[in-house]
Amino acid sequence: MKIEFKTFKGKKYYEFNDDRIICSYSVLFNRILISTGFFRILNNDEARFMFAHEERHQQDRNFYLFIFSYVAINLILTFLISLIIFFLKEYFELLIIFLLLTIISLIIFIIFIRLMEYRADMYASKKVDYKHFITAMRKIKNAKYSYFEKIFIKFMHPSFENRLEKLLNLKNK
Ligand SMILES: [Zn+2]
Repeated sequence: MKIEFKTFKGKKYYEFNDDRIICSYSVLFNRILISTGFFRILNNDEARFMFAHEERHQQDRNFYLFIFSYVAINLILTFLISLIIFFLKEYFELLIIFLLLTIISLIIFIIFIRLMEYRADMYASKKVDYKHFITAMRKIKNAKYSYFEKIFIKFMHPSFENRLEKLLNLKNK
């Protein structure tokens, strides 16, 4: 995959070839990744909204690093302890505690990434009118994503309706 370094309104991002609308922030590489289809299908205001959303994610990088490490450490610990208990054939209570902790961590993780989505939407709506978010999401919904991409998007984001509701609540305050 060819990735090209570009700028949009003075902000840097990395562009890759894909006809669909894809914009995401990679915590690992600390890069905003945008598909060629993104600027072709979205109009200027829609692109600005979605871009500002990703920018907020980038500014929040430390929060993501923290929660990702927390979940990763928890999973590794649970795995190691399961291995030890498996070989010792003892301390099964301990395993239950760690499994519970892992489940709790995953729930915290899911809640956390959803809150971060609302946060990014709110940040973007301060820069660009949220009506462009509505039209952008309509276009995104029409895009053909694979089964696994759909699951990933669903896992990492609240529903469009919930996101819109949060923005409307903010505007009415
Ligand atoms: Zn997001």
